[in-house]
Amino acid sequence: MISVIGAGPAGSFYASQEKHDDVHLFEEHKVVGKPFSCSGVLTNSISKIVKIPDELIISRIKQFKIVAPNKKAIYVPLKHPNLIIDRTKFDRWLFDKAIDNGATSHLNEKFLGYKKENNAYKIKTSKSTYDTNMIVGADGPFSQVAKSAKIFKERKSITGLQSRCKYKNLEEGTTTIFLDKGDFAWVIPEDDKIARVGVLGKPSKRLWKDYMNLIGKRKIIQNISGAIPVFDPKQQLRKGNIFLIGDAASQLKATTHGGLVFGLQAAKYLANNKNTYEKNFKHLNKELWISLKMRQLMNVMTTKQKNALITIFSKKQNKDVLSTHDRDYPSKFLFKLVLREPRLVSLGVSLLKNSIFKPKKL
Ligand SMILES: Cc1cc2nc3c(=O)[nH]c(=O)nc-3n(C[C@H](O)[C@H](O)[C@H](O)COP(=O)(O)OP(=O)(O)OC[C@H]3O[C@@H](n4cnc5c(N)ncnc54)[C@H](O)[C@@H]3O)c2cc1C
Repeated sequence: MISVIGAGPAGSFYASQEKHDDVHLFEEHKVVGKPFSCSGVLTNSISKIVKIPDELIISRIKQFKIVAPNKKAIYVPLKHPNLIIDRTKFDRWLFDKAIDNGATSHLNEKFLGYKKENNAYKIKTSKSTYDTNMIVGADGPFSQVAKSAKIFKERKSITGLQSRCKYKNLEEGTTTIFLDKGDFAWVIPEDDKIARVGVLGKPSKRLWKDYMNLIGKRKIIQNISGAIPVFDPKQQLRKGNIFLIGDAASQLKATTHGGLVFGLQAAKYLANNKNTYEKNFKHLNKELWISLKMRQLMNVMTTKQKNALITIFSKKQNKDVLSTHDRDYPSKFLFKLVLREPRLVSLGVSLLKNSIFKPKKL
């Protein structure tokens, strides 16, 4: 028996791909896909992992508008539009795939812990105990599986404060990013009347104030805030026959804190072969590491440096690099950008100085 803990995207997708004939999917909530905390943005790299049916797509984003603290804005068109999905439908679609693949569902059943017995495990849930040969921890940012296996360690997480709200004068197909709130803030249109609006950063009074300013007097339809684990390059992905995937393994890119693409890719690698999972994920670890370093530099930027960054990217040839490359894989464009634009080197050097003389941890 394989026990998958968590019927979020990573757990359900894993269970939909696993060839073993006795897979059990445990979910603490009574229903799949609710509650959720997500903006539902998928980059084009999802298409290499799974084809998203049209009925899950709420809107398509064709360009980014990035606004500097001095209000100067640049538009970055996207070669491949981002998909904005309905997270509840997405989670349920993946869950149905898992059930179609033969997985047994255990809804409203919370994983509490496990005991090792010879080469197997006895897991304890809120309803029963089970003998199992393998445990997959896909149980999100506060992974009880990782905690029980003592591989949770000193994990850091940040907060994403976000709502779906009524919004006037939305620019169609345009995600707006603000650099002067939290680590960054966003407005993502679902249609011409509703947007997903949020800000993320270390939990603080300041972050809350930024969020309140962002929302203003707009009517909130749904709160979709939540915790976001910060990628840890040292995170252990396996202990014996216990594996972690998705947010439980901190597999999120720290530049935008998106985790869906990486969580699903991890699920696919694990289902394909548990013994090569860690090795296969290594090349993504490199991308996640670069994203983490980029985020750490962005987080020590002064207002002046943020304004300078926007000026640098207002140059067409720099913007083109952002337009054409997939932001999930920074190794493919970062060096190209630095070679093309000497001002990025001097900005990078001053950011390094900032981080040495004014350390601000993620
Ligand atoms: C505000 C915000 C915005 C975001 N926006 C984006 C975005 O636009 N794009 C993107 O790619 N990512 C985004 N993310 C991150 C994304 O939501 C996560 O990376 C993604 O949900 C991770 O999927 P997962 O399956 O690993 O974990 P989760 O989605 O957290 O699923 C874990 C599941 O495990 C269940 N569970 C937990 N503990 C137990 C237990 N003990 N027993 C049984 N079940 C349990 C939970 O109920 C849940 O269903 C955002 C996150 C936040 C907070």
